[in-house]
Amino acid sequence: MKIAILSRDASLYSTRRLKEACKQRGHDARIVDYLRCYMDITSHRPRILYQGEELLDYDAVIPRIGASQTFYGTAVVRQFEMMGVFPCNESQAISRSRDKLRCMQLLSRAGIGLPVTGFANSTKDIAGLIDIVGGAPLVIKLLEGTQGIGVILAETRKAAEAVIEAFRGLDANILVQEFIKEAGGADLRCFVVGSRIVAAMKRQAATGEFRSNLHRGGSAERVKLTPEERTTAIRAAKTMGLNVAGVDLLRSNHGPVVMEVNSSPGLEGIERATGKDVAGKIVEFIEKNGAHGKTKDKAKG
Ligand code: ADP
Repeated sequence: MKIAILSRDASLYSTRRLKEACKQRGHDARIVDYLRCYMDITSHRPRILYQGEELLDYDAVIPRIGASQTFYGTAVVRQFEMMGVFPCNESQAISRSRDKLRCMQLLSRAGIGLPVTGFANSTKDIAGLIDIVGGAPLVIKLLEGTQGIGVILAETRKAAEAVIEAFRGLDANILVQEFIKEAGGADLRCFVVGSRIVAAMKRQAATGEFRSNLHRGGSAERVKLTPEERTTAIRAAKTMGLNVAGVDLLRSNHGPVVMEVNSSPGLEGIERATGKDVAGKIVEFIEKNGAHGKTKDKAKG
C-alpha cells in the first residue's frame, strides 16, 4: 500500500516507528509535513500539493496531528478523505476528541465511567461548582493544558475557591473534578487499535506528586487490565469514532473512569514499557481495513 504519515517532525520516535513498521510490512511510506501541504478545494477533483508536487494515489494516511495544529491538520486529513484515501483516524473523530468538554459529554451520554466532573467558564457560583464534585479535595483543570500543566490538586475548599477565582479572572474554561485519591498517583494508558487493546501501561507519579505524566517524572510499566477496564477503554475509543486511541483511565472505587481519549497517542512510552510492536499493529489495522473510499465518520455527536 502507499501510505502517508502526516507528521511535522520526521525525527520523532512515533513518526520513525510508523515509517519503519510500514516498510517492514512491505509498504511504500512517506512522511508528509501537513502544515506544508496546500490544497485545491475549488475543483471537482480535490487535490493536495506538497513541495510542488501533487500527492497522488495514496491508499491510506496516518494522521499525527499536534494539539496546537488541530484546525489545519484536520483540514488536510479531510482533504485526503475527499480524495477517497483511508484515514487511520478520521478528521471528525480527531476534532471531536480534541474538544475535552465535548469528549466528556459524549462519553457521559454513552454511559461510560467518568470522574464526577463539573465545568464552567465564568460562573459566580463557585460554591455551587465545588459542590457538584462533593467538595474538597478536588482537582481543577485548565481546559487548554497538556502534559499535566494546568492540573491542580486543591486540598481544601478555601484553596479551591482561590484557584477558581483566579482562573475566572483569566476568562479560561475550567473543569472541576472529584479527586480519585485511591488511584494512588497512578493512571492506565490503554492503547486501542480497532476494537482491541494492543498494549497497556501503568504510569506512576513521582513521590509527592499526584500527576503521573512521564513529563512530570512519572515512571511506566506494563500492566494487565481487568475485563472491565478493557471494555471501558474500547467503548471510549468507539464513542469518539477513533480507530487508534490512547485512553487514559483511573482506577477508582466506583470502577474504571476515563480521564482522556487521545487521538495521536505517543508510541515511545508504551513500546518501551511493554515491549510490544504497537506501530506494527497500527499498520496491520490499515492493511485489514484501509479500502479506498472507506472514510465515513462512524460516531454520533
Ligand atoms: P493532561 O492532559 O495535561 O496530562 P490530565 O487530565 O491527564 O492532564 O491529568 C494529569 C495527571 O493528573 C493524570 O495523568 C493523573 O495522574 C492525574 N489526575 C488527573 N485528574 C485526576 C483526578 N480527578 N483524580 C486523581 N488524579 C488525577
